[in-house]
Amino acid sequence: MIRNPIPWPDGARCAVAFTFDMDAESLMHLYFPDTAPNRVAMAAMLRYDAEVAVPRLVDLLQRYALRQTFFVPGWCIETYPGAVDAILAHGHELAHHGYMHEKLNQLSRDDERETLERGIAAIVKASGRRPRGFRAPSYSFSKHTLELLLDAGFEYDSSLKGDDIPYLLTDGARTLVELPSDLSLDDWTQYVCLKDFGYMLPIASPQRAMEVFRAEFDAAWKYGGLWIAVWHPFVSGRMSRADAIAGLIAYMQDKGGVWFATLEEIASHVRHVAGKTWTPRVDRLPYYDRPLSGVLPGSGVLPG
Ligand SMILES: [Zn+2]
Repeated sequence: MIRNPIPWPDGARCAVAFTFDMDAESLMHLYFPDTAPNRVAMAAMLRYDAEVAVPRLVDLLQRYALRQTFFVPGWCIETYPGAVDAILAHGHELAHHGYMHEKLNQLSRDDERETLERGIAAIVKASGRRPRGFRAPSYSFSKHTLELLLDAGFEYDSSLKGDDIPYLLTDGARTLVELPSDLSLDDWTQYVCLKDFGYMLPIASPQRAMEVFRAEFDAAWKYGGLWIAVWHPFVSGRMSRADAIAGLIAYMQDKGGVWFATLEEIASHVRHVAGKTWTPRVDRLPYYDRPLSGVLPGSGVLPG
């Protein structure tokens, strides 16, 4: 199924990373900058992220002896030091997720660089070390993002969905490790019904959602893939869903042959085997410098 399987450490069948994006109210300030102070109910729901869900998930991961990766916007790091301290105290990786969850491909190159630097500064202040990894807020990886990440010394990105296993991104001279995921492993598509954010999906039961996440895991285990969940604490950290996460971890541990790791550890492994026991695929970015010529104007207007 995978033409170019990567050898995982100790002969593991697949690699697994439960990653959490703690966005808290950055989303509210981003989408509703003028009216945010009057959106108390929305703020309360999003604060659940840092106040309730992150401490719960950190405890849950500790029960299974797992260290995982948390992507946190710089503003959230500064606003919720208690949640960030809990993440760091348990040995989890703190990774970059913008400053205010900005949509990068709507920013100029200079503004994108500034948000990157502000997010790095927040992580350095909280943890004493520069971030190794990055996930573009809302997957909004721009044509400048790779170059800016390489300039800033990042080791990996986990925003794209271009493969089932790690691959490399290049600007023509340098490379960055890409650790891809998929929307089927994002909790937003299972659980989020939020009219204010433009999502009106039926809310799946945790059992139903886990069927999707587990099917992806079973396939990764069977064929040697990489399984990266992209979950939001205020969504997946609610009680019934946290219970279901515990059940999924137990299922994976019982099955055996699974390498649970932080994304930083997976990126480091990729560098270790690339060019030696495994030849990674390399994508040159950006895919397009400019819009294609010859596309008829008005011939592809989105419906609705
Ligand atoms: Zn996010």
